[in-house]
Amino acid sequence: KVRTRFAPSPTGFIHLGNIRSALYPWAFARANGGDFILRIEDTDLERSTQAAVDVILESMQWLGMTPDEGPYYQMQRMDRYKQVLQTLKDKGLVYPCYMSVQELDALRERQMAAKQKPRYDGTWRPEPGKTLPSIPEGVQPVLRFKTPQTGSVVWEDKVKGRVEVRNEELDDLVIARPDGTPTYNFCVVVDDIDMGITHVIRGDDHVNNTPRQIHIFEALGHQPPVFAHLPTVLNEQGEKLSKRHGAKAVTQYRDEGYLADAMINYLARLGWSHGDDEIFTREQFLQWFDLDHLGSSAARFDEAKLRWVNAQHIKMTDDQKLAELVAPRLQARGIDAAALQDGRLADIAALFKDRCDTLEVLADWALPFYAPAPAINQEDYAKHVTPEIRPALHALADALEALPAWTAPEISQAFKQVLKAQGLKMPQLAMPARVLTMGVAHTPSVDAVFALLGQKKVVQLLKTA
Ligand code: GLU
Repeated sequence: KVRTRFAPSPTGFIHLGNIRSALYPWAFARANGGDFILRIEDTDLERSTQAAVDVILESMQWLGMTPDEGPYYQMQRMDRYKQVLQTLKDKGLVYPCYMSVQELDALRERQMAAKQKPRYDGTWRPEPGKTLPSIPEGVQPVLRFKTPQTGSVVWEDKVKGRVEVRNEELDDLVIARPDGTPTYNFCVVVDDIDMGITHVIRGDDHVNNTPRQIHIFEALGHQPPVFAHLPTVLNEQGEKLSKRHGAKAVTQYRDEGYLADAMINYLARLGWSHGDDEIFTREQFLQWFDLDHLGSSAARFDEAKLRWVNAQHIKMTDDQKLAELVAPRLQARGIDAAALQDGRLADIAALFKDRCDTLEVLADWALPFYAPAPAINQEDYAKHVTPEIRPALHALADALEALPAWTAPEISQAFKQVLKAQGLKMPQLAMPARVLTMGVAHTPSVDAVFALLGQKKVVQLLKTA
């Protein structure tokens, strides 16, 4: 059974590049009837906070990436890591190293001066027939892993293809600190084994860890999982996406009115493809996702494209669903929750959804239907609500006020009647009528808009001319 994981470090911020590293393992598990596991890598005590964990959970929840297991917390698994460490000690696969930080620095400087790659030189690695230095007083050793010194590590990466690293390029990894706490690469492998992970799908900033992790898998007698290292997501300037370079938090997109399904669609395409399909639903994505169509070059984030994808998804979304999503945004604009229950919101969504690229834009369109008066665009007002047209607007108000039934066809009839009597063309009257009622000159069909605004309100606003 396929088992994947998302293993974020909770350091306070989660951007689109980070969440894409959750999207693919989640989708891969779903596409294969597998399990998706959430593991919080919180061993960096200085940088990890519960608030940061909450941000991760909130982002995943918004997008509907529900884990089947977890969150597991690495800090709660320390005993387990120490237990596994003991088995490596018992097998003679680790050794204590007493080299001090100063000695390590000096070694590195010598190597750099000789234009060599800085690496631990194996001073404390026990070998048959080798005499080790005498153990210094009062120094707590680190534990190093005995990396094979010949041969190479090879894996078939689902993104990068065959990767081969010669073992002589790897030094003996520190797997426990002087206080006995296990280090990052070791914990990850113990977790991936214990959690039965079959596919590790993660950012390619971890690709240098992979050969080291494969050695640990093998030392522990386990077959390494399948690896897929995802290329970086770049921002519009071509820099690696990061908070420092202005990336937004995932939840900010929710606040700005992006639909979860649109985000999934957009993020999915940022590094994966399904033929020429640009727009697809969550369900389609979860059926289609595979590791064979992951892209191997860095993807560039493009907010304009994201907005376009969002607009397509808004059009595809059911009106009632849009009404539910827009209601809280109208409340945030001061509209009473009870007023929003009048049943109009779904019809308003139906009328405006093809001109909205975010839910915020839709909320802006819906606002004049619930606010006492629209916010008037002054330019539109000056251009369209001219002194000459005012008598006609009053005549329209009277004709509309006299209508026995308030439906779009009736409203349209009233317009025609006034246009004829005043010798005007439709835009000459409809534009100022829109400005007075909706605040702007361009809206969907004026009779449909008026039908939803309500008779009393339309008449009263037209009379302000
Ligand atoms: N905790 C790592 C990170 O946040 C991910 C480790 C992994 O996926 O193996 O980048």
